Amino acid sequence: METPKSESEWKKRLTPEQYHVLREKGTEMAFTGKLLKNKETGTYTCAACDQKLFSSDTKFDSGTGWPSFTDAIPSSVEFHRDMSHGMVRTEVTCAKCGSHLGHVFDDGPGPTGKRFCINSCSLDFKKQ
Ligand code: FE
Repeated sequence: METPKSESEWKKRLTPEQYHVLREKGTEMAFTGKLLKNKETGTYTCAACDQKLFSSDTKFDSGTGWPSFTDAIPSSVEFHRDMSHGMVRTEVTCAKCGSHLGHVFDDGPGPTGKRFCINSCSLDFKKQ
């Protein structure tokens, strides 16, 4: 899938909720995402550009209401310091198309100790 070149192309490709999350750094409502409870084996990809982002092997139930992962597929995401909303967080974006995915925290389980907190609507799932 080719990365859109203008915001109007992004709007055509994405639902309004996806556009808000991926392109405007929004957050979907907790416990509403369709992939939250998905336990199938496969790969989670960027809903905007199809980049492979997370393996089902790293998914866990964090209890937060968003799909959570202990790690990302190497080189698939980028990290940015996010000072918005009076917090210091690390934003996670797709390395291919730059879309906002969620945040990563240091309170996850082993082996990485990381908790990637990712909006379900920013992901697609490819079953293996
Ligand atoms: Fe992407």
